[in-house]
Amino acid sequence: MNFLNQVIGGNEIIEKVEMMRIYADNAATTKLSDVAFKAMLPYMKSKYGNPSSIYNEGREAAKALNTARKNIATHLGCGINEIIFTSGGTESDNQAIISAAKHGAKENKKHIISSAFEHPAVLNTLETLKHQGFDITFLDVNTNGIIKPIQVEQAIREDTCLVTIMYANNEIGTIQPIGEIGKICREKDVIFHTDAVQAVGYLPIDVNKEKIDMLSLSAHKFHGPKGIGVLYAQNRILLHTIMSGGNQENGKRAGTENIPAIVGMSVALDECRKNMDYNTEKLTRMKKKLIDGLSTIPDCTVNGTLHRSLPGFINFSFKGVDSESLVLLLDDKGIAVSAGSACSSSSHLPSHVLLAIGRSPELAYSSLRISLCKYNTDEEVDYIIKNVTDAVNYLRSQAP
Ligand code: PLP
Repeated sequence: MNFLNQVIGGNEIIEKVEMMRIYADNAATTKLSDVAFKAMLPYMKSKYGNPSSIYNEGREAAKALNTARKNIATHLGCGINEIIFTSGGTESDNQAIISAAKHGAKENKKHIISSAFEHPAVLNTLETLKHQGFDITFLDVNTNGIIKPIQVEQAIREDTCLVTIMYANNEIGTIQPIGEIGKICREKDVIFHTDAVQAVGYLPIDVNKEKIDMLSLSAHKFHGPKGIGVLYAQNRILLHTIMSGGNQENGKRAGTENIPAIVGMSVALDECRKNMDYNTEKLTRMKKKLIDGLSTIPDCTVNGTLHRSLPGFINFSFKGVDSESLVLLLDDKGIAVSAGSACSSSSHLPSHVLLAIGRSPELAYSSLRISLCKYNTDEEVDYIIKNVTDAVNYLRSQAP
């Protein structure tokens, strides 16, 4: 997809060949929406007050903060004072897990249930707690990439202080039965946290109906700005502050609130919720097209299930093909996709998610994640299918 631009510079016409880029790695991050960007601008330039200040500029910022808090609370189905603004998914996950663990430890409850395919923000926090004497049960994930509620029920013990299971997986997009898990935890009086970073903006979530006690979200996954997120924590949860400082966020998270980013996040979430049906229909259609197109490539395996996964999200393994070479070849063709999660792309280890669902290391090293968003088009999907097919054929033809 080369586009010839003529740029007039002085007397000469400079011909510039520009490669059009197709961005299909929306699980890593998303493009900031225009509406969110415009909404943020005044709070970066003219309305720069600190929401903790009592004079006019401060009150103006506090008003924007409260409006965003109310809006996000409405979308999640919780109370306004149950929304805590954080720097993103990682911080929200850390604070949720550490809070439940501290509270549990006071009651001599030091058992936590999670799954083997969580994000590192959860896994590494649990690893730290393990060194502090917590016992962690990692539930097995079946080959479809789904945890069964009965597994959670059977794993809960007298000393369980927390169940933390992600809403949708960031490498294979599979959606967990969160409502059923929430019901079990509520009946057993165990705190339930879900990392919903990949799900918010794409699925309708109601923390009350789904009996979720704590939830993490991050704006840059749904066309909001980076470096901003939310921890929803039900009022009954005693939150432990992980940073010492001022009394912002009702004493639950210290540091001056990032008003431009909070406003952008709120507007981006509004947009996603308003257009959710339309976007889901479009993404589901494009995903089907991708699946139909890529399934014609010999020796390909779907990672996870396509029936219970995020719209627009697929993960395939192509036997004998090195993922990194595939991603780089596609990059040359103007396509941005990934082998797995952005966080682990430098580790050179096989994906822990793919190993958790029973894939061999060989298949884990030959995976490709494509995650579409509302800005992608059918024409782009056709281009992706053609180029993935050509690249896989080429790499296989080069194999010794
Ligand atoms: N949890 C999941 C499932 C994610 O996909 C990510 C980001 O990739 C995070 C947590 C971390 O979020 P953030 O980048 O906002 O720290």
